[in-house]
Amino acid sequence: MERLKELKTDIYRCIHCKACVFAYSGDPSREGVGEHKGSFSKERVLYEGMLKSCPAQLEYGWEAYANAGKMWIARSILEGEIEIDDNVADVIYPCITCGLCGEQCENDVRTVDIIEALRAAVLEAGVPARDKHELVDNITQKEDNPYGGKKVERVDWVKEAGIDPKLLNKKDAKIAYFVGCTAAYRQKNIAGATVKLLQKLGLDITVLTEEVCCGSPFFRIGKTNTAQRLMNDNLKFFANYELILFSCAGCYRTFTIDYPKWTGKKNTFKTQHAMELIAQLITDGKLEFKEHPKLKGKTVTYHDPCHTGRHFAEHFKRELINSSDNLFLDKRKLSKRVDDWFEIPRTIIRALPGIKFNEMYRIKENSFCCGAGGGVRAQYPEFSLNTSSRRLDEAEAVGADIMLTECPFCWRNLNDANERDNHGIPVYGILELIDTFDLLKEKGPAKKK
Ligand code: SF4
Ligand code: SF4
Repeated sequence: MERLKELKTDIYRCIHCKACVFAYSGDPSREGVGEHKGSFSKERVLYEGMLKSCPAQLEYGWEAYANAGKMWIARSILEGEIEIDDNVADVIYPCITCGLCGEQCENDVRTVDIIEALRAAVLEAGVPARDKHELVDNITQKEDNPYGGKKVERVDWVKEAGIDPKLLNKKDAKIAYFVGCTAAYRQKNIAGATVKLLQKLGLDITVLTEEVCCGSPFFRIGKTNTAQRLMNDNLKFFANYELILFSCAGCYRTFTIDYPKWTGKKNTFKTQHAMELIAQLITDGKLEFKEHPKLKGKTVTYHDPCHTGRHFAEHFKRELINSSDNLFLDKRKLSKRVDDWFEIPRTIIRALPGIKFNEMYRIKENSFCCGAGGGVRAQYPEFSLNTSSRRLDEAEAVGADIMLTECPFCWRNLNDANERDNHGIPVYGILELIDTFDLLKEKGPAKKK
């Protein structure tokens, strides 16, 4: 309840305007892509102007499930008007914590922070955790990952990908790659592709066998004790490295945004997504790609993971609000920083020869979520996959043959929805695509910035 009380001024700033259920194209002059009936949608969707875009409200219909409803629930709890019980939990957990609502809110309400605090308050009040959340928490207490893979099998992907195991636990390396549970136990292709690419670029990296779950799912579902235990373990294991690289959007967000928030201290290391490194090398003219006949003429589109996308835009905004003497002037700098941020994956995609890059209508800060996060994939699989399928319908509307993303969790959900609803749009991580089709045309070994 303490965290909910700390957010009281935000909660009371909500004027219940409900703008947060829509997503805008971000640019009034931007043309939409017209109407499309996708493989999932029962009706044609007009991708133009303001679209209903809160995944929870689209799925469940009732306002309580949308953010505006949740802000009202938070306020009512603070005012003692409603009791925290199972009914409250049933409404606040089917939410992906995608942050689309916070992005739309002109009153700067920190919606994801409030939703996470609400969930923590629910558990504190003695309401049982949702059954699948309890299950993954129990599994993680034992094996340090929510998938139940054995701790000793966490780095099995190294051998399976044909990577020299000497990269494990190198004390003299300055860069560590944080693999994350999804790439370590499920989407091993992403872990293997990332390491191979980084090694081809001449980077001396290590992978730690001690690595444990970053804690992201537990921060999101209100299991803050588990999340902090995992965070403290990782902070100890990675303390002596200068730079931690990531291929998972959720792990990257958690290390970069959640860890300093919960410890109250700056991390002792820098954090970077592998994409940032690759994009920088392209910009510096040190990296080029070659064509592949199987990709030639294909149309690709890009799905911005919420965790590497607008969650960082929100983080930059908070940094600015906390440090600025003149918010009006500094907001222009913020726009440039956010624009540059969203260009990172696009810099890589545009450098891939022979392919056509078509953007979906809802992109960047206004991107529509893949449906995997916030504990939703585990507890509400149908809602989760329906959300992914709505996203794939949007990709169909721009004629995409391939969807790219840069998060193993988005990858999993989008791929599953693609199979379930026959969208015919294979999904790749950007680095995975580069590795799979051997697209790298190296100009010379890269040095760390
Ligand atoms: S959170 Fe913001 S956008 Fe949503 S209803 Fe409240 S004031 Fe409006
Ligand atoms: S975080 Fe996403 S799913 Fe949850 S209320 Fe906001 S827009 Fe809806």
